[in-house]
Amino acid sequence: MFTIGGSTKKYEVFLPVNYHAKLQKENVQVKYKLDNKIIKKNISINIIDGNYKKNEIINVPKGKVTLSKSNKKKSSKEYSKVFKKVYSLIDTKNYINKSTFIMPMNSKITSAFGNARIYNKKTKSYHTGTDFRAKVGTLIYAANDGIIALTMNRFYLGKVVYINHGRGVYTYYSHMNKFDVKDGDMVKKGDKIGTSGVSGRITGPHLHYANRLYNVTVDPLQFAKLHNEIVKKYH
Ligand SMILES: [Zn+2]
Repeated sequence: MFTIGGSTKKYEVFLPVNYHAKLQKENVQVKYKLDNKIIKKNISINIIDGNYKKNEIINVPKGKVTLSKSNKKKSSKEYSKVFKKVYSLIDTKNYINKSTFIMPMNSKITSAFGNARIYNKKTKSYHTGTDFRAKVGTLIYAANDGIIALTMNRFYLGKVVYINHGRGVYTYYSHMNKFDVKDGDMVKKGDKIGTSGVSGRITGPHLHYANRLYNVTVDPLQFAKLHNEIVKKYH
């Protein structure tokens, strides 16, 4: 939990819900100290349907759906690296305490988070980010303040930049053409981090913009909206 604007009375916490979570009631226990006493409060939350689009059909080269042995190995090795350097690390700093999110690109959204996808008529998965229309070379901006956690070239995502916004929040920007930042750089909201391209598993050039919260993939636009509402209300 994080204090809101340095207050000792107002705290906020985001609870990410996995895409495949059951639609049911869940209990959350909040524990805090007040006058040296531990206080526990139970809160019931209702997991509701995201009403995502069904059956978005995607056709990509065969080798990028059914992976060869070496590509499978490469892909899982990549994931280990990203997990170690990005997803498993929860920064206790909060770089976005008073800063709202912006869109990473001034462009049209072509595919929303959560669309159920069918690749080459068989493999089923869901869309893990938000796609923006972008011809090769379109500028990409940091959606909020943070540190460049990792720049990497991945099998599916192509050239990707991971930004650590603190408090377990990461945004990342995939299928890029060129990086304008390197690992460890501090970035401010709106800074150019590079340009869009066609790298990775892709049907045409676009920006795939994604968001992880405590290592759970969440809708980047929904998270931005909720975070921005809190910033505007309390700061
Ligand atoms: Zn995408």
